[in-house]
Amino acid sequence: MLGPPGSGKGTQARIISELYGVPVVTTGDMLRDAVARGTEHGRVAKGYMDRGELVPDRIVNMVVQERLSMPDLGAGFILDGFPRSTAQADALDRILKERGLRLDYVIHVTLGDEAIAARLGNRRSCPACGAVYHLESKPPKAAGVCDECGSGLILRDDDQPEVIRHRLEVYREKTRPLLERYEGAGIIREVPGDCPLDELPRLLRKILG
Ligand code: AMP
Repeated sequence: MLGPPGSGKGTQARIISELYGVPVVTTGDMLRDAVARGTEHGRVAKGYMDRGELVPDRIVNMVVQERLSMPDLGAGFILDGFPRSTAQADALDRILKERGLRLDYVIHVTLGDEAIAARLGNRRSCPACGAVYHLESKPPKAAGVCDECGSGLILRDDDQPEVIRHRLEVYREKTRPLLERYEGAGIIREVPGDCPLDELPRLLRKILG
């Protein structure tokens, strides 16, 4: 899944996961989990994440390499939020080659900056199970409480307005250029980030076959 922060990559990844029964590997969630557990990687990652910077490639690549070697991913997986830099795309190429795997699709989720800012500012996330809500378009049943697991919902530190702006710059500079890399392979599929939620399953099925 490739697209700016707040474009709806995570939501689409979850839908694809349900449609095709393949797990999602979400580097943002894995890093947030490492921060919450206070691991060595988590301690280094926290500062970068709070500022809206990319966590150093060395750390992210290690975390991903470890996750991708787990047995539940044998039948395929969805990468949400990785790769985000050229060095990460190189690492992914190496990992896939080692395992005899290939990328089937790169889903490019598109959305304009204004829509992104509105979306992220109204986003509320569950720190326990990763569920994501929107105060207007997808509010939780009880204010501030996760429908799925009952935990308290939060506005992520990196969803604050000035950090959002910086995350968009980082996306444009470091991540967006990866589209050129995958263009030649003919595997990019564009999905509008503002497609209504109830139409997404049909659209994604049409695109992915
Ligand atoms: P996300 O939830 O995908 O928006 O990620 C939240 C934050 O985690 C990002 O702003 C980065 O600081 C960090 N992060 C997630 N994935 C990566 C990645 N592939 N490379 C570097 N940093 C990442």
